[in-house]
Amino acid sequence: MSRITIDRVDSELERNNKLAFSEPFETEYQKNYLADRLPMVTLWVSVGTFFYCLAALGDLDMLGDNSALAVSLRFGIFVPYAIGVIIAMRLWPSALLYDVLAVGSGLLGAVLPMSVLAFTDSPFAYNYQTGTVSTLLYVVVLLRPRFYSAMIAVAGILTIQFVTTFLNGGFASVAYAGIVSFYVTFGAFLLLVSYSFEQAERRSFLQNLRNDVLTDQLRFQSEHDDLTGLRNRRSLTSLLDDVWNGSDRSVAAIMVDIDYFKLYNDVHGHISGDNCIQTVSRILTEAVGPDHFVFRYGGEELLAILPDCELDDAIALAEKIRPTIVEARLPHHGVVDGCPLELVTASFGVAAVNTTQRMSGQLLAEADNALYKSKGLGRNRVTSSIAAQTGQLTFH
Ligand code: GH3
Ligand code: MG
Ligand code: MG
Repeated sequence: MSRITIDRVDSELERNNKLAFSEPFETEYQKNYLADRLPMVTLWVSVGTFFYCLAALGDLDMLGDNSALAVSLRFGIFVPYAIGVIIAMRLWPSALLYDVLAVGSGLLGAVLPMSVLAFTDSPFAYNYQTGTVSTLLYVVVLLRPRFYSAMIAVAGILTIQFVTTFLNGGFASVAYAGIVSFYVTFGAFLLLVSYSFEQAERRSFLQNLRNDVLTDQLRFQSEHDDLTGLRNRRSLTSLLDDVWNGSDRSVAAIMVDIDYFKLYNDVHGHISGDNCIQTVSRILTEAVGPDHFVFRYGGEELLAILPDCELDDAIALAEKIRPTIVEARLPHHGVVDGCPLELVTASFGVAAVNTTQRMSGQLLAEADNALYKSKGLGRNRVTSSIAAQTGQLTFH
């Protein structure tokens, strides 16, 4: 799904008169197709088989001496096949197997009674052969296999119909021609229905997919910052809520603020300023790793939230990140109080609290306070909340 973008869905929608998508849409469509039919397999197969067995009354009524054979074929072959379909779809669910079994139901459903009819001289043969209409409807309309499978089923059932009624030999040529023209027309209309079913199903699949992708995109945008791709303040609130809703744990925060950044903008311009924020964001994200969370807290202020992290570990991590920013060697060239600034640096404020003892707001306030101390002491340094409270600061 991650490879699917709005543009790709739109270009697939433009060429949707085909009954096959390009990848990965076809795979996703088939999953959807299966998920749509799977819950109905037991019900539809049971209903279809029930009526198929009920039609045994027609066998008894119309097939005379051969009725026992027709009834035993229904119960002895079709019923076990139907049970097999239900079991097979539970064991090996796939779109292809569904279609194969649906086509099989149609062919078997037609061939069992009609093969008996082929060798009977029942005077009710004409009435009897109409049962095939139900078989066609069952396969194409109720089971709804994909169009190409429906084509195979309809072609197969019609062939069975024409061969067996021909073999019966009891139909006058006008009656036989009537059977052929009726089934050809009926089959053709059913295939048109099947084609438009699949077209509509594919179109609505793509439209639903488009909505899903759009929703994901909007959700991502609402939770992330455009410039850095980091999470934004909105997602900070929801992350903190989640962390604070769980069991007691130590949560650390590292607040990072680029030093003399206003000056950096003045010297290099805003576009370079944006690039600088991106570089520092990347350094922070890589250092913090995938188990923790980095946010763009404000303009050039970034924040890492480290669940299940003690204060000492968070300080050690901040102390590892601070020189990495210097080593990125982003030239500053600003001048402060007559002193030229060589490279971009950042100041750090680190805090940690236990979730049952302090609120999330206090964690942020403590980290912010520690950062403020780092700034006050000359910048490019790490200060922890304890050091900020006691006045003992860590210098690097
Ligand atoms: P300090 O060392 O005390 O942090 O000083 P500072 O200049 O970095 O801090 P200050 O808060 O005075 O200025 C921050 C500047 O960051 C001001 C603002 O123009 C700039 N800024 C905020 N967001 C962006 C942004 O998205 N892009 C760029 N290029 N600049 C930004
Ligand atoms: Mg700053
Ligand atoms: Mg700032």
